[in-house]
Amino acid sequence: MADAKAKPKKAAKSGKKSTTKGKAETLSFQAEMSRLLDIVAHSLYSDKEVFLRELISNASDACDRLRHDALTAPELAAGDGDYGIAITVDEAANTLTIADNGIGMNRDDLVENLGTIARSGTSAFLAGLSGDDRKDTSLIGQFGVGFYSAFMVADSVEVITRRAGEDTAWRWFSDGKGSFTIEPAEREARGSTITIHLRDDDKGYLNKDRLSGIVKRYSDHIPFPITLTEAGGETEQANTGAALWTRPKSEVTEDQYKEFYHHVAHMADEPWSVLHFHVEGVIDYRALLFVPSTQPFDLFQQDRESRVKLYVRRVFITDKETGLVPPWLRFLRGIVDSEDLPLNVSREMLQDNPVTAKIRGGIVKRTLDDLEKKAKEGGESFDGFWTNFGAVLKEGIYEGAGERDRLVKLCRFRSTAGDGLVSLDDYIGRMKEGQDEIYYISGSEAEALAKSPQLEGFRAKGIEVLLMTDPVDDFWVPMVGVYGEKAFKSVTRGGADLSKIKGGEKDKAEDKADESDLGPLVAAVKLALGEKVKDVRASDRLTDSAVCLVAGEQDMDIHMERILRAHNQLNEVSARILEINPKHALIKGLMEKAKIDASAPVLEDAAWLLLDQARILEGEPVTDPAEFARRLSKVMAAGLG
Ligand code: ADP
Repeated sequence: MADAKAKPKKAAKSGKKSTTKGKAETLSFQAEMSRLLDIVAHSLYSDKEVFLRELISNASDACDRLRHDALTAPELAAGDGDYGIAITVDEAANTLTIADNGIGMNRDDLVENLGTIARSGTSAFLAGLSGDDRKDTSLIGQFGVGFYSAFMVADSVEVITRRAGEDTAWRWFSDGKGSFTIEPAEREARGSTITIHLRDDDKGYLNKDRLSGIVKRYSDHIPFPITLTEAGGETEQANTGAALWTRPKSEVTEDQYKEFYHHVAHMADEPWSVLHFHVEGVIDYRALLFVPSTQPFDLFQQDRESRVKLYVRRVFITDKETGLVPPWLRFLRGIVDSEDLPLNVSREMLQDNPVTAKIRGGIVKRTLDDLEKKAKEGGESFDGFWTNFGAVLKEGIYEGAGERDRLVKLCRFRSTAGDGLVSLDDYIGRMKEGQDEIYYISGSEAEALAKSPQLEGFRAKGIEVLLMTDPVDDFWVPMVGVYGEKAFKSVTRGGADLSKIKGGEKDKAEDKADESDLGPLVAAVKLALGEKVKDVRASDRLTDSAVCLVAGEQDMDIHMERILRAHNQLNEVSARILEINPKHALIKGLMEKAKIDASAPVLEDAAWLLLDQARILEGEPVTDPAEFARRLSKVMAAGLG
């Protein structure tokens, strides 16, 4: 179904009238549409037969929509409550016809739906185009291009349609080359008839057996009968015709689940997981839900809405704002069919309805059960899921879900221990003797984080640090605070006393000696930088770098502050603590200088350069670029002299 919110262009932008011949108007396709059609028509896409799946899918949606509208306006379906889809083959005319008695379209619907890019998947398809024919062709499979896929096999396509409740029928016709015509037409009753004039190369689609096979393969799950008729021949039903989710699990094949998923989710990947269950008792509902194996393109859309469709007693009700799936499970696709909700249930009624709440609880529980099972099985499969949807799932932790503990346990992280993903249980299981905190660092990229100077001391002691790269991490980690009785501790905040943790080959005695000589330098740097830093102190976490910045124990973590600033929720930049490494050659040299003359001008330049260096390491701009360049040149020139 078209997602109205995602529509990139209003219909008014296209459908520009160019000529009028008799009663037929010729209108041009929206510019992007022409491009799409050109690619579809010339594609060497190997699975051309999916065009039939797309047209049947549209016909099924049209029946669903009318059945839904007729709940409140029964006259719309008057005289014909038996919905169905009829495929007819006419070898003599070289045509294939797909007819439905669904909601139909009027003139405006035709211009809007079949003249512009109505569906969000199609616009994502266009956005993904690279200009490389081979790659672009594979996108057809990835996004599906709906109705327009007919042009993979058609010289021309004709649509005769009449909107339920209206008297006039309309004919839409196009050869897919830039324009289409619309004119009044005759159709006995409501619904749409799509006639495809097959290209010479694609006449194979006139073979009834082949068509029957295609329907079985892709459309068996369609809950309306699909009939197949040869001109002058017999009619047979090509699909089972009962809603797939009402069948017992044992009778549904993996392929049937897959095809239903493609239909319901508009996704072309394989489902990563299928959840099919029937709950009976106080309330009665069925659910057939899928976890995709790739990220849907709209996963991070602002509305964070679920796309799971609600049915009531087999009748499609809505796929908008059902409240059946929490935002942090919005990657789920599929349907829920309730026996208890009234057919005329409204959005408002759904929002605070005990039945909705019960179903939501059930979906959450079953989904987490399934994820836990898969996590236990472990391996790359769960890591793949986590990479796709971990960031979404983690939203559930800070949204106060009652499932917080279960969610935290499912979390996976990159870490300094290697390339794979680790769980908190893995982490705790290999903590060093004397370590009682879960160390982590947050930022936007794991590779950059792994190089942070703040990690040096941890690395030297072989202490594992989790690398957190999703923006939500900065919110849920401080909120959860503790896992398995171990507190989370950011390595860029507060002190880091690693001396109590066993490991590495640090020689504390030597460190202490160095630090005692640090006083004059610390004083000189503090004097130079004033309020630009909160404190200057010797570092326990540096081994190779000269300096780094950390946040005070009570301050906001550096990365968190950056996120808030990026979202204009914070204007001030708090002063940081500058930690210096007494074992670094540069610092040693400066310590010598400071001991002899704490007011030597070179110390002031050095102080600012150290601060700027630490800022650069954080990915922050230098304090004052002009001053930075001046001081750097001065120090370098002195070094040369
Ligand atoms: P999608 O089905 O994903 O929305 P399509 O490009 O296949 O995208 O179809 C665009 C729109 O055209 C549909 O959303 C629907 O409104 C309308 N449409 C297509 N086929 C039919 C049909 N058989 N009956 C009624 N409307 C249809």
